[in-house]
Amino acid sequence: MSDPRFVASNDQLLALLQTPTRACQCSLQRCAGWESVSETDWPKETLQHIATLRDPELHEPTFEEHHPHQTRYESADAPVSVKHFPYNRCDVFACQSCQQTVLRYTEYGGYYIDPRARRIHADLVSSEGADLHGAVIKGGGAS
Ligand SMILES: [Zn+2]
Repeated sequence: MSDPRFVASNDQLLALLQTPTRACQCSLQRCAGWESVSETDWPKETLQHIATLRDPELHEPTFEEHHPHQTRYESADAPVSVKHFPYNRCDVFACQSCQQTVLRYTEYGGYYIDPRARRIHADLVSSEGADLHGAVIKGGGAS
């Protein structure tokens, strides 16, 4: 197995997302916003690690968050922006039975670690990815 591929933009993330094909009994139903999911609750048999949002070139991804519409970190409708916290340190997983996409990263406290997960869907991911400091990257670009 090679390393999961690095997803560098919202457009690339959108391309990965699949519409869930059927209702699923995933144990992660509650994770509409970011929720703690312990290692023992994580359904690793059904979730395949398909990609990462962590830039291998970046040592300290920013803690800046992206909330243009007054959402908060834990909001179920907070927009996904791969350049911003906490998406910039997430791994991307897909459920093998329903194709639901789930992001996960680990919060590091002083003496604890706290894995957090969030189910995402395409409506949360803007194809105009936001850059840091509020600037908006236009779609298209160099490609
Ligand atoms: Zn599922």
